[in-house]
Amino acid sequence: MNVPLIDMRKIFLIAVMIIGLGFYHSQAQNVDEITAIAEGPKIIVFNYHQVDNKANPLAVSPANFEAQMKFLVDSGCITITPDELYAGLNGEIELPPKPVLITFDDGYIDNYTNAFPILKKYNLRATIFIIPAFTSVYPGYMTWEQLKEMESNGITIESHTLTHPKLEELPDDEIRNELLNSKTLLEENLGHPVEFLAYPTGTYNLHIAGIAQDISYKGAFTIKYGVVDKGSNFFALERVPIFNTAQNTMKDFYERIAWRQSFEEFGWIKK
Ligand SMILES: [Zn+2]
Repeated sequence: MNVPLIDMRKIFLIAVMIIGLGFYHSQAQNVDEITAIAEGPKIIVFNYHQVDNKANPLAVSPANFEAQMKFLVDSGCITITPDELYAGLNGEIELPPKPVLITFDDGYIDNYTNAFPILKKYNLRATIFIIPAFTSVYPGYMTWEQLKEMESNGITIESHTLTHPKLEELPDDEIRNELLNSKTLLEENLGHPVEFLAYPTGTYNLHIAGIAQDISYKGAFTIKYGVVDKGSNFFALERVPIFNTAQNTMKDFYERIAWRQSFEEFGWIKK
């Protein structure tokens, strides 16, 4: 039988979702976990990379990105900063209803040329995790001037390490240099404390988290799929990655948000 490729992809995706949901339900049998899911604010941290018309899984098209931003605004989501997330989870401030973070990793030039105008149009705040050794060096990445302009318009700049290595493969002194030198360079160029980190490639372990904590980071974001709430570890904050989808982009976007039962319980998605 000749099965078209697209159908095979759909079958594969459905299988992955069924396995994923099965895993989630088997994990949530524990009463403490169910209680933790039910209590306190849930914060979705979206994770983008590129906003461009490229055939690249990490590149969301500007049209799709705009539709997603409009959906967040129409749904009453309020964009917050990493500092507000931290203060909110510590009980120092009250978070707004439906708080979300829009984050970008790597600092690609299209964040400035394509995403920034859309964020400004919808009056949304966002956070970009920057690789300072690439800033004002490689043409595909933003410049310090662009970062400063964005920071005066609702964008927060944080660290994505100095050179984007696989941290778990480095000796301790190099992990420390990556985390500390990126923080120092960003602080010197932007003139404010840099206290949040996104682990390159999302990989981390307790040891790396301990070093980050030692040099005064307040928290770090992973690519562990899920929502952030009071049960989250500040050095292993969950995110929801958003990828390029050629067709039915909003359907895919809703499904990514709705994947976990708690999103629906929280009223993010109306069926
Ligand atoms: Zn990265």
